[in-house]
Amino acid sequence: MITIQSLLNLKDNYAWLLRDQASGAVGVVDPADACAVAKHINANGGRLDLILLTHHHRDHTAGTDELRERFGARVVGPRAAVARLPVLDEAVGEGDAVRLGDAVGRVLDVPGHAIGHVAYYFDMPPALFCGDTLFSLGCGRLFEGTAEELYGSLRRLAGLPAETLVCCGHEYTESNARFARMVEPDNAALAAYAEKVKALRAAGKPSVPSRMGDEVALNPFLRAPDAAAFAELRTRKDNF
Ligand code: ZN
Ligand code: FE
Repeated sequence: MITIQSLLNLKDNYAWLLRDQASGAVGVVDPADACAVAKHINANGGRLDLILLTHHHRDHTAGTDELRERFGARVVGPRAAVARLPVLDEAVGEGDAVRLGDAVGRVLDVPGHAIGHVAYYFDMPPALFCGDTLFSLGCGRLFEGTAEELYGSLRRLAGLPAETLVCCGHEYTESNARFARMVEPDNAALAAYAEKVKALRAAGKPSVPSRMGDEVALNPFLRAPDAAAFAELRTRKDNF
């Protein structure tokens, strides 16, 4: 069993804290702000064993070196981005396993937003750490890959169990919801979900993690029927 907690970093980034209940091992995904993460770690036992990086953008990696130095954490990241990442202790790709105490996560290659973008999937409870590939009600921009690649990555993620917690890299849900409602103005379930998100944000609470089942039902980028429709949607969102 792992427990999961989001930690706001920078303006709207989330670092994700993972704690393996059996061993007490602690990991963090995409630590951009070393101070914010260190403060949390020090207030919760002072242990950081593992840093998981999803991709090379600084708003996901900038805290890595300082946290490794302070806590001795092992750093794991995508092999295909190794030259652009902080120094890794282990480079990983599709099908590899990452260990946090007794918990084991599986690595998925999810190119599109960046070349060498991975996601980490743990199954107790099912939780996906997907960086800037999939957001709640949205997806990452196409910076380096093709629309086909990002669409393929999203379709794969959509195949994970419906109850999977989607632990994404940014708090973009409210603006994603506005776009989604423009795409599907008559979708009542989407309207209801958008209201729920609005209330959470108004109360200062995170809108994530979401559930994969909700993303499959409501996220317009997962609902696109093919890569061409997806590409058109992505372009519309870029100009939204
Ligand atoms: Zn990014
Ligand atoms: Fe980002």
